[in-house]
Amino acid sequence: NVEEFLRKIEDNKELNAFNFVFDDALLEADKIEEKIKNGKAGKLAGMVISIKDVLSIKNRPMTCSSNILKNYEAVYTATAVQKLIDEDAIIIGKTNCDEFAMGSSNENSAFGIVRNPHDKERVPGGSSGGSAVSVAAGLCDASLGTDTGGSIRQPAAFCGVYGLKPTYGRVSRYGLTAFASSFDTIGPFANSLDDIALILSVLSGKDPKDSTSQDIETPSFDLINDAREKITVGIPKEYLNPSSEGGLDPEIKEAVENQINLLKKDGYEVKEISLPHTEYAIATYYILTTAEASSNLSRYDGAHYGYRSDKANNLFDMYTESRTEGFGEEVKRRIMLGTYVLSAGYYDAYYRKAQKVRRLLKEDFDKAFDQVDIILTPTTPTVAFKIGEKSADPLQMYLSDIFTTPANLAGIPGINVPIGKNSDGMPIGLQLMANHFEERKLLRFAKRLE
Ligand code: GLN
Repeated sequence: NVEEFLRKIEDNKELNAFNFVFDDALLEADKIEEKIKNGKAGKLAGMVISIKDVLSIKNRPMTCSSNILKNYEAVYTATAVQKLIDEDAIIIGKTNCDEFAMGSSNENSAFGIVRNPHDKERVPGGSSGGSAVSVAAGLCDASLGTDTGGSIRQPAAFCGVYGLKPTYGRVSRYGLTAFASSFDTIGPFANSLDDIALILSVLSGKDPKDSTSQDIETPSFDLINDAREKITVGIPKEYLNPSSEGGLDPEIKEAVENQINLLKKDGYEVKEISLPHTEYAIATYYILTTAEASSNLSRYDGAHYGYRSDKANNLFDMYTESRTEGFGEEVKRRIMLGTYVLSAGYYDAYYRKAQKVRRLLKEDFDKAFDQVDIILTPTTPTVAFKIGEKSADPLQMYLSDIFTTPANLAGIPGINVPIGKNSDGMPIGLQLMANHFEERKLLRFAKRLE
């Protein structure tokens, strides 16, 4: 089937889902076929997987969809990718994304925009837009994306596929290009929950190369329905009636309410809960992640690796020119915002304050999970929007992350579950969240919605 996927990628070039396609995946497929014949194949034998172009694979290009890393080739392989390879998955290419994973529409890419397969005039979501499209359009079996504030769940919702953001610390970040290190997570996209569960079981575990990965036993993520498991579902009132401008699309609200009614009919206890600090999530997220990004992105200076401007005559001009020419608009905006909130005079007013609000947001979830097992919300306030619709207004764009950033602020797992389409035929997504390291509960509950 690798051959067929490669052909489909070629036929769907206009979607622009891939930055790089690995034609040598065919050779890999032959080797794995041999292993299967000999009964020696791994858990993912023959599964064809695409990888967001922010994860390193040795001797392959790794650009983060940025001109500043144009022509850069990775010198080692990310642990998450290595684990897939060790289980005989076939890596078919690197997917397009927003530059350095900053964006919600995949319009901020040096490789050009990505199109939504359900309507080519609409965005696929971001930042892992290429990954979501590669799965939604059937260009591979599954994909690895990253989620710092919704970049797996939101494009999964816009494209109508499953997308899981694991607990922070469940999957090693070694080999993932850092955007906001205390938020970044790696997770799978797939068309089925069984594939999501299988891939997560392979990705999970402590890695000595990432000190924030946790030494917690990897549970089996088998999805057998267990009738003894009694689940209480919480519906945060702030999510179905958001105070933000624009609110929640009525068709999404109706679809989510239908799901809630089905759960009640099935005998689940459904409780209204409150996550009172939700309205501060976006502001807190954009202060803390830009701060971390401004620090993480200081390594792209034209000296160590990547793009170097040939205009400069001295060292400082070399830094300035290389960064001016290499980074795109949105990345520059974030570096400037982050540098500002960390600057001596403003640190207490912004960065320190935001750290405190982050704690309050986490405590909202701690209290909620004392009462409920699963929190159910819409994944996004709107369906996929038109290309160009929000690109002139960064604040509008940032608001697309309103329901997804809280899970990253708290470090908890969340998944997008596709629940149908709106009247324009665009996919609608439901988000489920669970407490830290409760992915097993999360996935088994998601399975019951099928
Ligand atoms: N859209 C969010 C942002 O622009 C989330 C990005 C992400 O999760 N990588 O920061």
